[in-house]
Amino acid sequence: MNLIICGAPGSGKGTQSDFIVKKYNLTHLSTGDLLRAETASGSELGKTINAYISQGNLIPDDMMIELLMQKIKSCPETNGFILDGFPRTVAQAEAFEQIMTRQGTRTDLLIDLKVEHDELVNRLLKRGETSGRSDDNLDTITKRLEVYEEKTRPVSDFYRKLGKYAAIDGMGDLQEIFGRICQAIDQIQ
Ligand code: AMP
Repeated sequence: MNLIICGAPGSGKGTQSDFIVKKYNLTHLSTGDLLRAETASGSELGKTINAYISQGNLIPDDMMIELLMQKIKSCPETNGFILDGFPRTVAQAEAFEQIMTRQGTRTDLLIDLKVEHDELVNRLLKRGETSGRSDDNLDTITKRLEVYEEKTRPVSDFYRKLGKYAAIDGMGDLQEIFGRICQAIDQIQ
């Protein structure tokens, strides 16, 4: 089973991915974590990546797809993946689905976590107090939410048209949100 978890910055993708991984025994692949690891390595590529992240911009599609496919290849065989934070553009979704088809596999479901704008800003500002992330400050948060609306929201329509889409209310208690996600996953199994 291959899942995608999508949603605006601060929608709880990482937190819910951790729950999903444990229950369904999947491999968690967060492109944000992948990029931050490259940045922390101090490599030239990491410096280029950090320039995008700290401005709240997306990493170019080609670079992102290349890095993710390298990472997937290096992972041991599992029950499947949960992709967290990818695809962030329709071009990434198209390229990824083509690669999956060529490899004889598929995406089963995109889980779209829906959270109100003010709640997103509050969560990200709160996270910024302890995360040490260069992009958890008000200016960059505002930019990231704009980029999300413009570039990432259309990805939902792409998967909706494929019949592989579940919108999940991401407001409220963490376990209740997880319960809603499990219902959606269990319907496809
Ligand atoms: P995240 O941890 O998912 O909030 O991602 C943090 C930052 O990493 C984003 O604001 C982007 O700059 C970059 N990033 C993460 N995933 C992607 C992606 N799929 N495509 C392009 N940039 C990404």
